[in-house]
Parts: sequence; C-alpha cells; structure tokens
Amino acid sequence: MKQTLFVRLMFVAGTVWLANQLWSTKLVGAMPELKHARPAIDLSFLPSNLVIPPALPAGLEDPLLIEAWVRLYNHETPIELWDGTPITGRILAQALVDLAIPLVWDIEGYCGNASCSHQFCAGETCVYEDGQPGVDPIHINPLHAADMETLVATLAHESFHRMMPFGPVHDSKFEEFWACKVSAAFDTRSGFTFDNYDPWMSGYLVLWIRDNGRTPYYSLPDYPPVIAAQLN
Ligand SMILES: [Zn+2]
Repeated sequence: MKQTLFVRLMFVAGTVWLANQLWSTKLVGAMPELKHARPAIDLSFLPSNLVIPPALPAGLEDPLLIEAWVRLYNHETPIELWDGTPITGRILAQALVDLAIPLVWDIEGYCGNASCSHQFCAGETCVYEDGQPGVDPIHINPLHAADMETLVATLAHESFHRMMPFGPVHDSKFEEFWACKVSAAFDTRSGFTFDNYDPWMSGYLVLWIRDNGRTPYYSLPDYPPVIAAQLN
C-alpha cells in the first residue's frame, strides 16, 4: 500500500536514476551508508539455522525487525516475475541494505492500518524521497509484530516497491499484483490467489483485486508506462 503526496521534487532525479541502475544491475553496486560490520547487538536470539549476513540494514536494532529481515535474506528460492526475471528474498533484503532504507514501526498510524512507504509525485514521476536529508523509511504496521510470517511478507512487499521495478512512476494495479505475489511466497496463510488471473489483461487485474479483497487498489492506474507500452 502506498500513500501519495503531490510535491515537486525533480532534484531527486539522481536518486531515481541510481535506484533504477541498481535494479537493472541486480543490485551489485555498493551504496553509501552501508554498514559493513555487524551491529554491536546480541543476535544469539536468532534461530541457529539462519545465515546471518555480514551487513544488516543501517540502524536496525529492533529484534523483531532484525529477525524478519534475516529471514527474508535467507530466502533463496526464485520467484519468477512478469518478464521471467527471478527474484528472491535475499535480493529484496539486500536491496534494503544497498539503498540504506530504514525500517521503522508505524507508531503514528501514518499508513492507516497498513505498511507503506511515502511516495512523492510530480506529474507522472514518483519517488520515495522527500528531499530532506536521510533516506525515507518503510513504515511497518505494528500489528505485524505479532506474527513473524506476516512481518517477513510485509518486508518483501514493501522492499519490492522500493526497488522501483518499473522506474519512478505511480503505483499501479500491475505493480501491486506482483508485490502481492512476491510477498505471498513468504506467507503460507496469505490466502492470495493468482493462478486464474492474467495480469496482462486489465480486466483480470480488477477481478483479482475484487476476489482478493484489495479494495484500495481499485483507484490505481492499471499499468506502469513501461508495461502499458508493451500492450499497445
Ligand atoms: Zn503495495
């Protein structure tokens, strides 16, 4: 889920370009603020079967969010995207490190009983940057603290958005379809269904929204421009 605020922020185009480069190059580029050393916190609470990566997201100290992020990082089963590109939890988790995106609990209810990143749009261009110092966070619904599986799925969903897979554009039904499909791989109880809906047909996207109870997505455009161009 996203919230949209229309402000002029064209000077952040460099950030957008960089994010797109990271996507297209499978996030091999190192970003500033990357924390190379493990934080001086006790990670012994994590299950012993989990691989603990050398770098956690900068500033991440909440035990639940650390565990969710590490669980996301440990997922290596490819999920095939619309163009056949595979994505894994590890790619999503590493993106949060490389893009230096903070993870914070949405204590103020900023996302309205959901999790989100704030999207800033000027015309058809949208970014996740308010122009102030520091990378804007992903706000996590505190209710998800009660369930690790949901928390991991939420991180996957919101990380997918922050990778801007279709560039600096408005959210769309198509993007949400794939964000949900990616996140469903981390939550066996999500109840999401995808198999009977062809996301390349806008009518099916509407039916998918209806059948999966994703009412807020109705108002979104059907497709991001790069996908719409393929349909014309
Ligand atoms: Zn979403």
